[in-house]
Amino acid sequence: MPNLETVVREIADEMRQRSDRGEVARYIPELARVDPNQFGLAVIGADGTVAAAGDCDVPFSIQSISKVFTLTLALGMVGDRLWQRVGREPSGSPFNSVVQLEYERGIPRNPFINAGAIAVTDLILSRHQPREALGEILRFMQYLAQDNTITIDEEVAASEQRTGFRNVALANYMKSFGVIDNPVEYTLGVYFHHCAISMTCRQLAAAGRFLAHSGRDPSTGLSVVQAERARRINAVMLTCGHYDGSGEFAYRVGLPGKSGVGGGILAVAPGTASIAVWAPGLDAAGNSHLGRIALERLTKRLGWSIFGE
Ligand code: GLN
Repeated sequence: MPNLETVVREIADEMRQRSDRGEVARYIPELARVDPNQFGLAVIGADGTVAAAGDCDVPFSIQSISKVFTLTLALGMVGDRLWQRVGREPSGSPFNSVVQLEYERGIPRNPFINAGAIAVTDLILSRHQPREALGEILRFMQYLAQDNTITIDEEVAASEQRTGFRNVALANYMKSFGVIDNPVEYTLGVYFHHCAISMTCRQLAAAGRFLAHSGRDPSTGLSVVQAERARRINAVMLTCGHYDGSGEFAYRVGLPGKSGVGGGILAVAPGTASIAVWAPGLDAAGNSHLGRIALERLTKRLGWSIFGE
Protein backbone atom coordinates (compact mmCIF):
# COMPACT_ATOMS: atom_id res chain seq x y z
CA MET A 1 0.00 0.00 0.00
CA PRO A 2 1.43 3.44 -0.89
CA ASN A 3 2.63 5.70 1.90
CA LEU A 4 -0.05 8.09 3.23
CA GLU A 5 2.20 11.14 3.39
CA THR A 6 3.39 10.62 -0.18
CA VAL A 7 -0.17 10.24 -1.47
CA VAL A 8 -1.33 13.39 0.35
CA ARG A 9 1.58 15.41 -1.02
CA GLU A 10 1.08 14.09 -4.57
CA ILE A 11 -2.60 14.94 -4.54
CA ALA A 12 -1.96 18.49 -3.27
CA ASP A 13 0.58 18.95 -6.10
CA GLU A 14 -1.84 17.59 -8.69
CA MET A 15 -4.64 19.87 -7.48
CA ARG A 16 -2.38 22.92 -7.50
CA GLN A 17 -1.77 22.43 -11.22
CA ARG A 18 -5.40 22.21 -12.28
CA SER A 19 -7.12 25.12 -13.92
CA ASP A 20 -10.70 23.81 -13.48
CA ARG A 21 -11.37 25.15 -10.02
CA GLY A 22 -15.18 25.57 -9.92
CA GLU A 23 -16.91 28.76 -8.80
CA VAL A 24 -16.72 30.28 -5.32
CA ALA A 25 -20.10 30.78 -3.62
CA ARG A 26 -21.37 34.18 -4.72
CA TYR A 27 -24.63 34.36 -2.78
CA ILE A 28 -22.72 35.04 0.44
CA PRO A 29 -20.78 38.23 -0.41
CA GLU A 30 -17.95 37.52 2.02
CA LEU A 31 -17.30 34.08 0.49
CA ALA A 32 -17.25 35.53 -3.04
CA ARG A 33 -13.96 37.23 -2.10
CA VAL A 34 -12.07 34.03 -1.28
CA ASP A 35 -9.15 33.18 -3.60
CA PRO A 36 -10.15 30.01 -5.55
CA ASN A 37 -6.52 29.00 -6.07
CA GLN A 38 -6.13 27.62 -2.56
CA PHE A 39 -6.10 23.93 -1.72
CA GLY A 40 -5.58 22.19 1.60
CA LEU A 41 -5.71 18.55 2.71
CA ALA A 42 -5.25 16.94 6.13
CA VAL A 43 -5.62 13.27 7.05
CA ILE A 44 -5.40 11.91 10.60
CA GLY A 45 -4.88 8.16 10.84
CA ALA A 46 -6.10 5.86 13.61
CA ASP A 47 -2.79 6.14 15.49
CA GLY A 48 -2.89 9.94 15.36
CA THR A 49 -0.41 10.32 12.51
CA VAL A 50 -1.18 13.50 10.58
CA ALA A 51 -0.47 13.83 6.88
CA ALA A 52 -1.19 17.33 5.63
CA ALA A 53 -0.31 19.41 2.59
CA GLY A 54 -1.02 22.64 0.72
CA ASP A 55 -3.07 25.28 2.54
CA CYS A 56 -3.89 22.88 5.37
CA ASP A 57 -3.32 25.58 8.00
CA VAL A 58 -5.38 28.34 6.40
CA PRO A 59 -8.74 28.87 8.17
CA PHE A 60 -11.84 28.77 5.97
CA SER A 61 -15.58 29.07 6.55
CA ILE A 62 -16.83 25.58 7.40
CA GLN A 63 -20.46 26.51 6.53
CA SER A 64 -22.61 23.38 6.23
CA ILE A 65 -19.93 21.10 7.67
CA SER A 66 -21.01 22.61 11.01
CA LYS A 67 -24.32 20.76 10.53
CA VAL A 68 -22.63 17.45 11.39
CA PHE A 69 -21.64 18.85 14.76
CA THR A 70 -24.96 20.56 15.52
CA LEU A 71 -26.69 17.27 14.67
CA THR A 72 -24.37 15.47 17.09
CA LEU A 73 -25.09 18.02 19.84
CA ALA A 74 -28.85 18.02 19.28
CA LEU A 75 -29.00 14.20 19.33
CA GLY A 76 -27.17 14.36 22.63
CA MET A 77 -29.85 16.72 23.97
CA VAL A 78 -33.10 15.23 22.68
CA GLY A 79 -32.06 11.77 21.44
CA ASP A 80 -34.10 10.05 18.77
CA ARG A 81 -37.00 12.47 19.30
CA LEU A 82 -35.04 14.65 16.87
CA TRP A 83 -36.30 12.46 14.03
CA GLN A 84 -39.86 13.63 14.66
CA ARG A 85 -38.80 17.08 13.43
CA VAL A 86 -36.38 16.14 10.68
CA GLY A 87 -36.27 13.19 8.28
CA ARG A 88 -33.23 11.20 7.23
CA GLU A 89 -33.80 10.60 3.54
CA PRO A 90 -31.80 12.13 0.72
CA SER A 91 -33.60 15.12 -0.73
CA GLY A 92 -32.59 14.95 -4.39
CA SER A 93 -32.94 18.72 -4.46
CA PRO A 94 -30.61 21.68 -3.83
CA PHE A 95 -29.50 22.52 -0.29
CA ASN A 96 -31.71 25.62 -0.10
CA SER A 97 -34.77 24.23 -1.87
CA VAL A 98 -38.19 25.46 -0.76
CA VAL A 99 -40.58 23.24 -2.76
CA GLN A 100 -40.18 19.97 -0.87
CA LEU A 101 -41.13 21.62 2.41
CA GLU A 102 -44.63 22.36 1.19
CA TYR A 103 -45.32 18.79 0.09
CA GLU A 104 -43.93 17.44 3.32
CA ARG A 105 -45.76 19.80 5.65
CA GLY A 106 -42.75 21.65 6.97
CA ILE A 107 -40.71 18.56 7.93
CA PRO A 108 -37.31 18.85 6.23
CA ARG A 109 -36.02 15.76 4.44
CA ASN A 110 -32.78 15.51 6.41
CA PRO A 111 -30.59 17.45 8.89
CA PHE A 112 -28.06 18.53 6.26
CA ILE A 113 -30.19 20.54 3.85
CA ASN A 114 -30.60 24.08 5.12
CA ALA A 115 -34.17 23.64 6.36
CA GLY A 116 -33.20 20.53 8.34
CA ALA A 117 -30.15 22.18 9.85
CA ILE A 118 -32.18 25.23 10.85
CA ALA A 119 -34.69 22.92 12.60
CA VAL A 120 -31.80 21.19 14.41
CA THR A 121 -30.34 24.53 15.49
CA ASP A 122 -33.76 25.47 16.82
CA LEU A 123 -33.75 22.34 19.03
CA ILE A 124 -30.37 23.35 20.49
CA LEU A 125 -31.60 26.90 21.01
CA SER A 126 -34.66 25.69 22.92
CA ARG A 127 -32.29 24.58 25.67
CA HIS A 128 -30.38 27.86 25.88
CA GLN A 129 -30.29 31.61 25.43
CA PRO A 130 -29.05 32.46 21.87
CA ARG A 131 -25.53 33.46 23.00
CA GLU A 132 -25.20 30.38 25.19
CA ALA A 133 -26.35 28.10 22.37
CA LEU A 134 -23.72 29.52 20.06
CA GLY A 135 -21.10 29.33 22.80
CA GLU A 136 -21.90 25.67 23.35
CA ILE A 137 -21.55 24.87 19.64
CA LEU A 138 -18.24 26.72 19.43
CA ARG A 139 -16.90 25.09 22.60
CA PHE A 140 -17.87 21.68 21.22
CA MET A 141 -15.79 22.34 18.10
CA GLN A 142 -12.87 23.58 20.20
CA TYR A 143 -13.11 20.54 22.45
CA LEU A 144 -13.24 18.07 19.55
CA ALA A 145 -10.34 19.73 17.75
CA GLN A 146 -8.48 20.22 21.07
CA ASP A 147 -7.89 23.80 20.03
CA ASN A 148 -9.50 26.79 21.72
CA THR A 149 -8.25 29.26 19.13
CA ILE A 150 -11.13 28.27 16.78
CA THR A 151 -13.45 31.25 16.29
CA ILE A 152 -16.48 32.50 14.41
CA ASP A 153 -15.84 34.82 11.47
CA GLU A 154 -18.24 37.64 12.36
CA GLU A 155 -17.92 39.24 8.91
CA VAL A 156 -19.11 36.04 7.22
CA ALA A 157 -21.98 35.71 9.69
CA ALA A 158 -23.02 39.35 9.16
CA SER A 159 -22.72 38.94 5.40
CA GLU A 160 -25.10 35.99 5.46
CA GLN A 161 -27.43 37.66 7.93
CA ARG A 162 -27.82 40.54 5.47
CA THR A 163 -28.45 38.37 2.42
CA GLY A 164 -29.84 35.03 3.65
CA PHE A 165 -33.35 35.66 2.36
CA ARG A 166 -33.96 32.07 1.38
CA ASN A 167 -33.03 30.79 4.80
CA VAL A 168 -35.41 33.36 6.31
CA ALA A 169 -38.12 32.02 4.00
CA LEU A 170 -37.39 28.39 4.95
CA ALA A 171 -37.43 29.18 8.67
CA ASN A 172 -40.68 31.14 8.48
CA TYR A 173 -42.28 28.41 6.43
CA MET A 174 -41.33 25.76 8.98
CA LYS A 175 -42.51 28.03 11.76
CA SER A 176 -45.96 28.12 10.14
CA PHE A 177 -46.07 24.32 10.58
CA GLY A 178 -44.87 24.50 14.19
CA VAL A 179 -41.49 22.93 13.40
CA ILE A 180 -39.56 25.96 14.76
CA ASP A 181 -40.19 26.81 18.42
CA ASN A 182 -38.10 29.95 18.88
CA PRO A 183 -38.38 33.37 17.22
CA VAL A 184 -37.12 32.85 13.68
CA GLU A 185 -34.53 35.63 13.94
CA TYR A 186 -32.94 34.01 17.00
CA THR A 187 -32.75 30.57 15.41
CA LEU A 188 -31.29 32.01 12.21
CA GLY A 189 -28.82 34.14 14.16
CA VAL A 190 -27.39 31.00 15.76
CA TYR A 191 -27.51 29.11 12.43
CA PHE A 192 -25.65 31.81 10.46
CA HIS A 193 -23.03 32.05 13.18
CA HIS A 194 -22.31 28.32 13.43
CA CYS A 195 -22.02 28.20 9.64
CA ALA A 196 -19.44 31.01 9.97
CA ILE A 197 -17.09 29.02 12.22
CA SER A 198 -13.65 29.27 10.73
CA MET A 199 -11.29 26.26 10.81
CA THR A 200 -8.27 24.83 9.06
CA CYS A 201 -8.20 21.39 7.43
CA ARG A 202 -5.98 20.19 10.25
CA GLN A 203 -8.46 21.35 12.92
CA LEU A 204 -11.45 19.96 11.05
CA ALA A 205 -9.86 16.53 10.55
CA ALA A 206 -9.16 16.46 14.30
CA ALA A 207 -12.76 17.40 15.11
CA GLY A 208 -14.08 14.56 12.92
CA ARG A 209 -12.02 11.80 14.53
CA PHE A 210 -14.78 10.58 16.82
CA LEU A 211 -16.86 9.70 13.76
CA ALA A 212 -14.04 7.57 12.36
CA HIS A 213 -13.51 5.72 15.62
CA SER A 214 -16.88 4.50 16.87
CA GLY A 215 -17.73 7.69 18.74
CA ARG A 216 -14.47 7.85 20.71
CA ASP A 217 -11.79 10.45 20.29
CA PRO A 218 -8.62 8.34 20.14
CA SER A 219 -6.38 11.23 21.23
CA THR A 220 -8.16 11.71 24.56
CA GLY A 221 -9.75 8.27 24.87
CA LEU A 222 -13.01 10.03 25.74
CA SER A 223 -16.33 8.89 24.37
CA VAL A 224 -18.07 11.70 22.47
CA VAL A 225 -21.10 9.66 21.41
CA GLN A 226 -21.98 5.97 21.51
CA ALA A 227 -20.71 3.82 18.66
CA GLU A 228 -24.25 3.33 17.35
CA ARG A 229 -24.79 7.08 17.11
CA ALA A 230 -21.49 7.65 15.29
CA ARG A 231 -22.42 4.90 12.83
CA ARG A 232 -25.79 6.51 12.18
CA ILE A 233 -24.39 10.02 11.74
CA ASN A 234 -21.97 8.54 9.20
CA ALA A 235 -24.89 6.89 7.40
CA VAL A 236 -26.72 10.21 7.08
CA MET A 237 -23.50 11.85 5.87
CA LEU A 238 -23.15 9.20 3.18
CA THR A 239 -26.71 9.50 1.92
CA CYS A 240 -27.34 13.23 2.43
CA GLY A 241 -24.01 15.00 3.06
CA HIS A 242 -23.65 16.35 -0.47
CA TYR A 243 -27.30 17.24 -1.22
CA ASP A 244 -28.23 16.16 -4.72
CA GLY A 245 -24.57 15.35 -5.33
CA SER A 246 -24.62 12.66 -2.60
CA GLY A 247 -25.01 9.76 -5.04
CA GLU A 248 -22.11 10.99 -7.14
CA PHE A 249 -19.92 11.47 -4.05
CA ALA A 250 -20.66 7.92 -2.84
CA TYR A 251 -20.03 6.57 -6.34
CA ARG A 252 -16.71 8.34 -6.78
CA VAL A 253 -15.29 8.67 -3.26
CA GLY A 254 -17.09 5.95 -1.31
CA LEU A 255 -16.94 7.56 2.13
CA PRO A 256 -19.41 9.39 4.38
CA GLY A 257 -18.73 13.07 3.78
CA LYS A 258 -20.15 16.51 4.47
CA SER A 259 -19.53 19.51 2.28
CA GLY A 260 -19.93 23.24 2.87
CA VAL A 261 -20.23 26.16 0.46
CA GLY A 262 -16.94 27.50 1.83
CA GLY A 263 -15.38 24.67 -0.22
CA GLY A 264 -14.55 22.32 2.64
CA ILE A 265 -15.40 18.63 2.93
CA LEU A 266 -15.09 16.45 6.03
CA ALA A 267 -14.86 12.77 5.10
CA VAL A 268 -14.73 9.74 7.37
CA ALA A 269 -12.98 6.43 6.65
CA PRO A 270 -14.45 4.32 9.49
CA GLY A 271 -11.75 2.74 11.64
CA THR A 272 -9.06 4.26 9.48
CA ALA A 273 -8.94 8.05 9.22
CA SER A 274 -10.59 11.44 9.45
CA ILE A 275 -10.01 13.61 6.39
CA ALA A 276 -10.55 17.31 5.70
CA VAL A 277 -10.07 18.91 2.33
CA TRP A 278 -10.58 22.49 1.21
CA ALA A 279 -10.77 24.01 -2.27
CA PRO A 280 -13.09 27.04 -2.43
CA GLY A 281 -14.47 26.55 -5.97
CA LEU A 282 -17.78 24.69 -6.11
CA ASP A 283 -19.56 22.49 -8.65
CA ALA A 284 -23.17 22.98 -9.76
CA ALA A 285 -24.55 21.21 -6.66
CA GLY A 286 -22.60 23.57 -4.35
CA ASN A 287 -19.93 21.02 -3.36
CA SER A 288 -16.18 21.59 -3.60
CA HIS A 289 -15.11 20.68 -7.14
CA LEU A 290 -11.44 19.90 -6.49
CA GLY A 291 -12.19 18.69 -2.97
CA ARG A 292 -14.23 15.84 -4.40
CA ILE A 293 -11.64 15.01 -7.03
CA ALA A 294 -8.89 14.99 -4.40
CA LEU A 295 -10.88 12.64 -2.16
CA GLU A 296 -11.65 10.36 -5.09
CA ARG A 297 -7.93 10.05 -5.79
CA LEU A 298 -7.10 9.56 -2.11
CA THR A 299 -9.57 6.72 -1.53
CA LYS A 300 -8.66 5.04 -4.79
CA ARG A 301 -4.91 5.11 -4.13
CA LEU A 302 -5.25 3.99 -0.52
CA GLY A 303 -8.11 1.51 -1.04
CA TRP A 304 -10.23 3.36 1.54
CA SER A 305 -13.69 3.28 -0.05
CA ILE A 306 -16.17 1.63 2.31
CA PHE A 307 -17.45 -0.29 -0.71
CA GLY A 308 -14.17 -2.17 -1.22
CA GLU A 309 -11.01 -1.65 -3.20
N1 GLN B 1 -24.74 29.01 5.46
C1 GLN B 1 -25.01 28.41 4.19
C2 GLN B 1 -26.46 28.63 3.82
O1 GLN B 1 -27.27 28.60 4.68
C3 GLN B 1 -24.70 26.95 4.25
C4 GLN B 1 -24.96 26.24 2.95
C5 GLN B 1 -23.94 25.21 2.62
O2 GLN B 1 -22.82 25.24 3.10
N2 GLN B 1 -24.29 24.34 1.71
O3 GLN B 1 -26.80 28.86 2.69
